[in-house]
Amino acid sequence: MVHSHGYAAHEAKAALVPFQFERRDPGPDDIVIDIQYCGICHSDIHQVRDEWGGSLFPMVPGHEIVGKITSVGSNVTKFKVGDLAGVGCMVDSCRTCANCQAGQEQYCDNQIVFTYNSKDQQGNLTYGGYSTNIVVDQAFALSISPKLDLAATAPLLCAGITTYSPLRHWDVGAGSKVGVVGLGGLGHMGLKFAHAFGAHVVQFTTSPGKADDAMRLGADEVVVTKIPEEVAKHANSFDFILDTVSAQHDLNLFAGLLKRDGTLCLVGVPEQPAAVHAFSLIPKRRAIAGSMIGGIAETQEMLDFCAEHNIVSDIEMTTFDQLEKAYERVVKSDVKYRFVLDTQSLKG
Ligand code: NAP
Ligand code: ZN
Ligand code: ZN
Repeated sequence: MVHSHGYAAHEAKAALVPFQFERRDPGPDDIVIDIQYCGICHSDIHQVRDEWGGSLFPMVPGHEIVGKITSVGSNVTKFKVGDLAGVGCMVDSCRTCANCQAGQEQYCDNQIVFTYNSKDQQGNLTYGGYSTNIVVDQAFALSISPKLDLAATAPLLCAGITTYSPLRHWDVGAGSKVGVVGLGGLGHMGLKFAHAFGAHVVQFTTSPGKADDAMRLGADEVVVTKIPEEVAKHANSFDFILDTVSAQHDLNLFAGLLKRDGTLCLVGVPEQPAAVHAFSLIPKRRAIAGSMIGGIAETQEMLDFCAEHNIVSDIEMTTFDQLEKAYERVVKSDVKYRFVLDTQSLKG
């Protein structure tokens, strides 16, 4: 077994505390990563607080993991000791269903194994990246370019791919008018990607103080959603809107901004379901869709795109003893724009 230590929640809404545990013996297809940085995703908070139901404890959150490989199994061809590697939201899937075969492992029909708050094929609880190391099958690990700032690369493993994938799927590019709702961890990456793909990007925010940052991050326009007249100016004009909001809000407002055949894609997962009026959709054949992270091949494509275009996350570094404070600030929409845990604060 591989000894690991990290921070865990032992029950819903409990504070995270130091936790010692064992990871599986590395098999021939496994690599062991010495974790250097791990991003804090709002999904960590939803799950620690059991806002989606069914949370499994003890829970070591964390699915924006980057670090250095310390050992590789005998079948490992993708990596060598000393390489940088990353792990995102999933660590295994059935690998045989149509979705897995299509490289869309995140939509596996049989068993997707999430990085934490999940059970592996043997029925053991998985533990995430708020910890010193991780054992992972090479097929679910990503190569990280040494060109990019490593800490700022960590959030690409979830916030990055979760926004890159739908923007690619709905062919966002030059000539598209795109809205991004919410300027948090996901939102600021969605904004950067939509801008990099050549779209005209409108950032929607409830935080007037983030307007200047939104422009700096690539927005062509910023709309403060608390001013209804400003929102209404954009009626019937968007090809695509990416909704990254983590709390309850009115979807009808954004659906009404879509032009004919436009799509409002939800990636944010508020605790409560939303009410959508049919009249928000039917007059212009509008669609509401959802999207979950991205497949492994697409995640690598996104990381390579970021290395080529020098795109990383805007981060605030934090330490394990400050976790509760960081969670509070994320919930208050006060992070600029992703917290990243420095694992040195755990090892030291
Ligand atoms: P985050 O950093 O907290 O960002 C969410 C943003 O939503 C906030 O910064 C805020 O932006 C806006 N917001 C918050 N409360 C709001 C409210 N009551 N009304 C309107 N806007 C509000 O969170 P994140 O890490 O980006 O995650 C966002 C959501 O995506 C979470 O629900 C998370 O679980 C989910 N998620 C989904 C996937 C997936 O695969 N689909 C993957 C990762 C995360 P402004 O200040 O600009 O208004
Ligand atoms: Zn996440
Ligand atoms: Zn599958």
